[in-house]
Amino acid sequence: MTQVTEQQIIDALRCVVDRERKNDIISLGMIEGMQVKDGHVALTLGVEPERGPRLEPLRKEVETLVHKLPGVISASVVLTAEKRGTAPAPSAHSAQAPRPQGGELLPDVKAIIAVASGKGGVGKSTTSVNLALALATLGHETGLLDADIYGPSTRRLLGISGGPRSSDGIKLDPISKYGIKSMSMAYLVEEETPIVWRGPMVQSALEQMMRDINWGKLDILVVDMPPGTGDTQLTMVQKVPLAGAVIVSTPQDIALIDARKGLNMFRKVEVPVLGLIENMSYFNCPSCGHRTEIFGHGGARREAEKLGMDFLGEIPLDTVIRQTSDDGHPIVAADPEGEHARAYLAIAAKVWKTVEQNLQMRAASAPRIVIQ
Ligand code: ADP
Repeated sequence: MTQVTEQQIIDALRCVVDRERKNDIISLGMIEGMQVKDGHVALTLGVEPERGPRLEPLRKEVETLVHKLPGVISASVVLTAEKRGTAPAPSAHSAQAPRPQGGELLPDVKAIIAVASGKGGVGKSTTSVNLALALATLGHETGLLDADIYGPSTRRLLGISGGPRSSDGIKLDPISKYGIKSMSMAYLVEEETPIVWRGPMVQSALEQMMRDINWGKLDILVVDMPPGTGDTQLTMVQKVPLAGAVIVSTPQDIALIDARKGLNMFRKVEVPVLGLIENMSYFNCPSCGHRTEIFGHGGARREAEKLGMDFLGEIPLDTVIRQTSDDGHPIVAADPEGEHARAYLAIAAKVWKTVEQNLQMRAASAPRIVIQ
């Protein structure tokens, strides 16, 4: 694909007019910063602070227009009311990839991580819940956001009945259980209600579950992403300010194409991939305890290395994991000292370590916007 250049973007933006100031945004010198890398475009528009709230349509117009240019994979436009040349870029990531800022949607959440899979049924939700519980066990304030709008499963997995309440009369509170806060579409609509969500509604539902919920201060929010790697997922990945992503795969999928698709999706939007979790890695016989390596051993670790991903750990195929999930009492909460909980805890510790390192690096290297 041909790469878009800064000049092409500037030329295209000459037709965008700031109606209040009756001139195009290039002539008005409103472009304060631009970064173009591998088809990802990040732009900063400088505006007067008092006009900021009114200029969202203009920001959107610029974003849409840039996104439509040939060779553009993603476009992110932010308004800044800082003095020219002194405005720090929103995060270190914006230097490489235009992505939304955590501060906009979830100002009190230190890190948001996505748990994703190339396809459904690999145990992504089971892994998300147990990973969130393990992070909480390690002492981190943890939230779980079920972003699977079509097939939410957090209510069942955490055994939650009833809906969320509001303590301040304005926003809804997430539901707390087993030491984590959670929110899911299933808490908001009746289980039986057929949900016919069009693309944009999925988007806004997800944003609402972040913005309009009293998450409070969190160290980490685990987002259970919808399965697959289609456009909806890609949009979500772009809209949710992610510190990183974890990919869940079964041994047979990692050798196949699905897990790679997940990896590529995150690389496309330059979300750091924290690593791969192999679920249903081997079979623990419930009656004799014998371990069977159904798909051979070590394949996922090797495959992860080949793809340049960290291998975070393996979880066996074990009836007790399924039963505890079905009972709404996931294994990390049901048997916190057991071997499965220990496996999830080890994975959680690795995930947290990398997230923390990324956050420190980001804080240390926040770049300055380049003045055009
Ligand atoms: P996904 O979110 O990828 O669609 P789920 O987490 O809903 O997958 O898991 C699909 C089914 O597999 C569920 O019935 C779940 O209980 C079961 N399952 C997931 N992981 C394991 C495991 N490690 N051992 C046994 N059953 C599992």
